[in-house]
Amino acid sequence: MSDCIFCKIGTHDIPSNVVYEDDKLICFHDLEPQAPVHVLVIPKKHLTSLDDVSEEDKELLGHIMFKIHEIAESLGLEGGYRVVSNNGEDAFQTVRHLHFHVIGKRKMLWPPG
Ligand code: 5GP
Ligand code: ZN
Repeated sequence: MSDCIFCKIGTHDIPSNVVYEDDKLICFHDLEPQAPVHVLVIPKKHLTSLDDVSEEDKELLGHIMFKIHEIAESLGLEGGYRVVSNNGEDAFQTVRHLHFHVIGKRKMLWPPG
């Protein structure tokens, strides 16, 4: 997707503060962190949201979840962390490229707003 900012972060056409990267995903610090640790994990493949995934993406989604666990460990989130994916308008998804927020190093509230 030529006009997608997260695709451009995935190809390094837009710079970001990268935490981890492999051939399938990239993890980088959020521009407006909502906690002392706030990173985003995105597939390099353009998927608009979870509504956009298909059977062929199952391995990719499993890889993302597995790497989130490793990334959280590398960021020292042993006290706990939250993984959030906003999907669609009601969830207030602002960037239409599937992403997972990984937020930690502060106490969270539940339920979310
Ligand atoms: P959403 O609201 O779609 O769940 O989350 C989008 C997130 O992307 C927001 O937390 C926002 O701060 C972050 N964001 C938007 N544009 C950029 C960018 O160009 N660089 C980085 N690092 N984060 C971005
Ligand atoms: Zn994209």
